[in-house]
Amino acid sequence: MRVLTVIGNRPQFIKASAVSSRLRALGEEVTVHTGQHYDSELSQVFFDELELPPPEHLLGIGGGTNTAQTARMLAALEPLLADVRPDAVLVYGDTNSTLAGALAAVQAGIPVAHVEAGMRSFDRAMPEEVNRVVTDHLGALLLCPSQTAVDNLRRESVAGAVELVGDVMVDVAQLLQPAARARVESLAPYEVEPGGYLLATAHRAGNVDDPERLRLLADVLLALPLPVVLPLHPRTRARLEAAGLLEEVTAAAHVRLAPPLGYLDFTALLCNARAVVTDSGGVQKEAYLAGVPCVTMRPSTEWVETVEAGWNTLVDLDAERALAALERTPPGERPQLYGDGKAGERVAQAVRALAAGAPAPA
Ligand code: UDP
Repeated sequence: MRVLTVIGNRPQFIKASAVSSRLRALGEEVTVHTGQHYDSELSQVFFDELELPPPEHLLGIGGGTNTAQTARMLAALEPLLADVRPDAVLVYGDTNSTLAGALAAVQAGIPVAHVEAGMRSFDRAMPEEVNRVVTDHLGALLLCPSQTAVDNLRRESVAGAVELVGDVMVDVAQLLQPAARARVESLAPYEVEPGGYLLATAHRAGNVDDPERLRLLADVLLALPLPVVLPLHPRTRARLEAAGLLEEVTAAAHVRLAPPLGYLDFTALLCNARAVVTDSGGVQKEAYLAGVPCVTMRPSTEWVETVEAGWNTLVDLDAERALAALERTPPGERPQLYGDGKAGERVAQAVRALAAGAPAPA
């Protein structure tokens, strides 16, 4: 059995690291890196740290609009699929690489497995939401991280087989958070102490591409009451620079700017933070797993269970609401929301069965 895995950005490298070695123990995996994230800080460091096998194919397709980028990926994937002739294609999450991988495969008559299927923010203005919905309706095997995701897919009457496997990011977090928590040297460059600072990330198009929203984002960061370590995503840096806001943000004494960090340094900062302020999907969940309260700078989230459990508060880009959320004491309970840390093995087994042409689960 031969599986072609299509990945292209930071969270996909992290997710694939929970699956790839398990899949390779069962059969052949060929990995394609689309190049959606090409900087070494957003790409190579994750292959090194997470021991992800180097990709067999590099498409080098980054930049451009979502439509243009997806179109270029589709054009590059078609001959590659004809050449590699996989029995199944595996895609992760909700990026242009996810959609392009799924669509190119289905057009070539190859079944698609989608990891992180069924996640919904119900906000079609998010490019990620469009990618998720379309990919789920193309997939033959929809591997869900939560019961909510399963319910979403049932409501949409998807054609593919739906399986609850848990979240592969839980596997990675369970493996690496304990050591990362002890890695306090990662805090030193920012002159912060465990429990005495906030960790902030922002990169969603809806927050950084519109100058008015970007101004509000800067206002939230400037209003935060503790030292803030801010590993700046290249897109956010570029937008802040273009809007003339980067200087204002960096000049604030409490803001400690960082480059995009590797997983281990980032996880060390996450596990030791008083709270996390973010618009990332993955970071909301990782904060929950680490027992760190999260303030989410979005009006909605796919990871609704973290909000319902009282560990995550949606504040959009409202500085006052962010400050109020940071005052909240987190609940004593932190139930297991996204599985037992063995999702990677379930994904590998399910994908092997798909590639072998096994009948889909009911
Ligand atoms: N992350 C990282 N370094 C950073 C920022 C984030 O390693 O400087 C990791 C983080 O631990 C999480 C993932 O990248 O696993 C989240 O990626 P991102 O926020 O880019 O994507 P999203 O989850 O929002 O799709």
